[in-house]
Parts: sequence; C-alpha cells; structure tokens
Amino acid sequence: MPEVVIVGSGIAGLFAALKIADGGHQVTIVTKQRPTDSSTNWAQGGIAGILDKTDGKGMDLHISDTISSGDGLCNENVVRIVVEEAGDRIRDLLSRGVEFEKNEDDFHLAKEGGHSARRILHAKDATGKEIERALSEAVNNHNNITMRPNTLGVDLIQTVHGDPKEGIKGIWCLDLADSIMEAIPADAVLIATGGCGQLWEKTTNPSVASGDGMAMAYRAGANVKDMAFIQFHPTALMVPDDRPFLITEALRGEGGVLLDDKGLKKYRTSDQEPEFFSFTHEYSPDGSLATRDIVARACDQTMKINGSNQVWLVTDHLDSTKLHNEFPTIEKRLNRHNLSLGKDPLPVAPAAHYTVGGLEVDLFGRVITSGNKPMPGLYAIGEVACTGMHGANRLASNSLLEAVVFADRAAKHFVENPNLIDSIIPEWRADGMAILEEHSPLVRDLETLKKTMTDDVGIVRSFDRLNRAKRMLLLLSNEVELIWRKSIPTRDLVELRNLVLIASLITDDALARTENRGLHYNKDII
Ligand SMILES: Cc1cc2nc3c(=O)[nH]c(=O)nc-3n(C[C@H](O)[C@H](O)[C@H](O)COP(=O)(O)OP(=O)(O)OC[C@H]3O[C@@H](n4cnc5c(N)ncnc54)[C@H](O)[C@@H]3O)c2cc1C
Repeated sequence: MPEVVIVGSGIAGLFAALKIADGGHQVTIVTKQRPTDSSTNWAQGGIAGILDKTDGKGMDLHISDTISSGDGLCNENVVRIVVEEAGDRIRDLLSRGVEFEKNEDDFHLAKEGGHSARRILHAKDATGKEIERALSEAVNNHNNITMRPNTLGVDLIQTVHGDPKEGIKGIWCLDLADSIMEAIPADAVLIATGGCGQLWEKTTNPSVASGDGMAMAYRAGANVKDMAFIQFHPTALMVPDDRPFLITEALRGEGGVLLDDKGLKKYRTSDQEPEFFSFTHEYSPDGSLATRDIVARACDQTMKINGSNQVWLVTDHLDSTKLHNEFPTIEKRLNRHNLSLGKDPLPVAPAAHYTVGGLEVDLFGRVITSGNKPMPGLYAIGEVACTGMHGANRLASNSLLEAVVFADRAAKHFVENPNLIDSIIPEWRADGMAILEEHSPLVRDLETLKKTMTDDVGIVRSFDRLNRAKRMLLLLSNEVELIWRKSIPTRDLVELRNLVLIASLITDDALARTENRGLHYNKDII
C-alpha cells in the first residue's frame, strides 16, 4: 500500500512527493490527465524570493509588498515564514535541476505589478514549464514514487463520509482509461489539485482546473476560507480562435502600457510616452503596474464604459529585440495571430486566473475542520489551499513560492509524524447505478454555470446579481445531484458536480461580505 497519495502533479504535488519519498516513504501521485497538464506548466512570469539570507531589508520589502497587495487580510506570520524560507526552497529547486535565467554571474531578476524591487527569478517567460520539467524528471527517477496519469480523484475515503473526526483513509479514484472506480488506501492524502478557473467563460487556467480537490475535501468536512477572492488577470490575449492566453505582468514590468481606444488614438498622434494616456491612472497612481485587483477592475470598467471587448497593451516604445529575447513564448503565440511585441498593440482583457481562497490549512498544510482542528491524514498544498499568505489579493509570482514552501512544510510534517494506519476500506457505492447515456444535459449545465459566474460573480459584483447566481446555482446543484445519484461516475459528471459546489461556496462568501477588500468588489457596498 502506498503510504501517501498525492492528488495532482503541479509544482506543489511534485515537490512534496520528492520530499516525502526522500524521507523513505512510498508515494503515489494520481493526476487526471498527463502529468504536465497543470497551471504550473503554463506559469510565465516567475517565482518571487530573496536568495540571500542576510538581506533583511530585501525580505522586509517583499513582506510589505505582499501585505499591501493583500489589502490588510494577509496572515503576517505566514507571509514572514514564506518569505524567510524562500531562499532555501528556491535552492531546492536549483538542486533538482531547475535552470533560472542568469546575467553574467548572478540571476536575472524581473519585476511585476505590486513589487517595489526586482526579485523574481524566471526562465525567460516559461518559468513553470522549466520547473515542471525538472521536477518531473526527478520524480520519474525516484524509486519511491509511482505516477498514475489519467486517474481522477473523486472522493476521499472515511469510515463515515463527511465526518471529519474519522480522518482520511485514502481516496476513491476513477481510472479514466477503463472507467473503473478504485479505492487507493493511504496513511495520508495530500491534495494538490490547483484552482477552479474553469468556473468562468474566460480563464487563463488549463481544463484540469475544476476545483476537484477543494470540493472533495469540503464534502469530507474540511473548512474553506476566503472563497470570494478570485484573481482576474488583467491581460489575457483576446483573439478569435484561441484560448485567453496570458500575457505576463513582467511585460508591463518592462514598460508595457495599457490604453483604451481613445488613449491609443491620442498616443499615436502625440510625442508623449504611452503611460501618459493610460486609463489606469484614474484608478491608481501606479498606473499600468498597480496591483492586479486594481488593474483588472480598471480594464473591466473601461471596457464596460467604452462598450468594447478589449483594451490594448502597447509595447512599441520599447526595445523590440530585447522583448523578443525575454518573452519568446509570448512572441511565438502572438506570431500565430500576425502580432508582434515591440510593434503591435495587443488586444487584452481580464480572465479568471487564480483562486486565492481554498481549503483552510495550518502552518504545516494540515487541512482544518470545525473546532479549528486538523483533519487526521489530510493535507492541502499549492493553489487549492488557503494559507493566509495572499490575504485579499495575491501578489504576482508569490504562488509558485507559497506552493514550494508549504509543500515542504507538509512533507516534513508527514515524515516526522507518519501516523501510519491499518484501515478497513469501505466499498464504493455501486448499487443501482447506471451508465450515463446522455451527456448533453451536463454540457448545457456547464455552459449555464460558466455564464452565471461570468455575468453575476465576476470582477464587479452586486447583491442582486449574487442572489440571482445563488438561485441559479441551487437549481443546477439539484439537477446535477439527481444525475450523480443514479449514474456511474464519468469525468464530466465529477467535474461539474465539483464546480457547482465551489461556485456556491464562492457566491455565499461574496454575499456574506460587508466590505470591499482586494479582489472582492461589490458596487452596492460603499
Ligand atoms: C497561465 C498562468 C500563468 C501563471 N504565472 C505564474 C507566475 O509566473 N508565477 C506564479 O507564482 N504563479 C503563476 N501562476 C499561478 C501558478 O502557476 C499556480 O498557482 C500554481 O502553478 C499552482 O500549482 P499547484 O501545484 O497548486 O496546481 P497545478 O499546477 O494547477 O496542478 C494541479 C494538478 O492537479 C491535477 N488534478 C486536478 N484535479 C484532479 C483530480 N480530481 N484528480 C487527479 N488530479 C487532479 C491536475 O491535473 C494538475 O496536475 C500562473 C497561472 C497560470 C494559469
């Protein structure tokens, strides 16, 4: 029996697997598509952190930038821990073979919105791909780790499901190759399933980001926290026949500027720098480089006022050779659409990007349940977890960092307190369940769900719209539950059930909030 099951093969899952396997334990990673299908693999900008442990001033600045981006809701103790452990964890990545960009003899550091200094290590504009490559190689070469692709985590196993006191005894999985349900017993389960961007029509997230881990842990009795805080990235490329492709904030860090149609027209007929005409200054003195919540709201409002589907990211005042060299992945994607950095204004709009809230965890990544107690045998790491690091708004490039710091903490905690159990695993319910013959109601329900979340639980919210969403979600939840009860699980059914649950948790949290903070903005609240 594997001693530990890790659900998800992004940065958090891979990093924790290596640490636990190094500690002498058997680890199985279940992941629902190919191992590289993850947000991690698509991360562009980089990982923030101070490598030099003696640079107290640098760390203090990183801490204060994170707290100020979090709009007063960060857990300051967590922020300090993450920033102080950053150097060691980044060195761990280096020792696993991750190659970050270098100047002559030091790392090249980038800057993004909300950062007051250059402190972001990166691998050009494909940092996540490089991290995923190196960690995957290390995992494949580790004797104590088994990777199970095409394996969908469905629900956590407890003797009495939903009773958090019972603790977790393993996970029910659907083998997607042969559609068979399987129980994988484990002494501990680490949830590393990432976010839930698939709830919105426009998202930068991959298709695997359907909130599964959050939903299965919630059903088992876990607490969720800060669900209302969904980060919309201000600059996703909006061109026909392509997904919303992220244009990293680092491009604005290098001088890229956001303009609306009027600003673009004025800029083209003047000698002024483009920033002079940016609508973002009406929202923040930091203009195009203000924190993400502010810039995304500025873009959203401006598009609504102008009746347009995009704003423009302008880079023609910058050195195009340097841009092509620093952002080759973006340049390649743009070329598909006859666009080029340093030349063409890029049509961009906000898209759902990062789930700030999630499963409430303690300082060791243990999932918290009622009475503020950790659930025996259950950890959550990476984007699925809410550590308190990001407060009401995540600072750019802090999520890869938080993921490795908490993956390390959870792994160490398990290795030092293995809590080995000898459990009897209950059977998966199978009686009276039939093969799902018609998938079209699921497709329609998913469309309705995404439309509801986009229209009513987006960047700018109101009580009327949130209540409307709540009614719609109740309807959807009842419909999906009816199908769930009588059908053998399929991937689309499992994901839809999870998405509807997470949508309700987000909407309920948004409705309960009486003040606007960070990423939650309700126009009825003054
Ligand atoms: C386009 C883009 C750019 C980004 N750029 C940056 C950046 O520059 N810097 C930064 O700090 N952050 C960035 N982020 C955010 C960051 O990439 C993510 O927060 C981080 O990678 C999440 O890592 P994770 O390991 O928690 O989850 P992920 O990397 O999303 O991995 C989740 C894994 O869980 C698996 N999974 C999900 N559900 C199930 C299930 N039911 N059963 C089995 N497996 C399951 C998935 O298949 C996947 O393998 C970016 C995000 C995106 C989308």
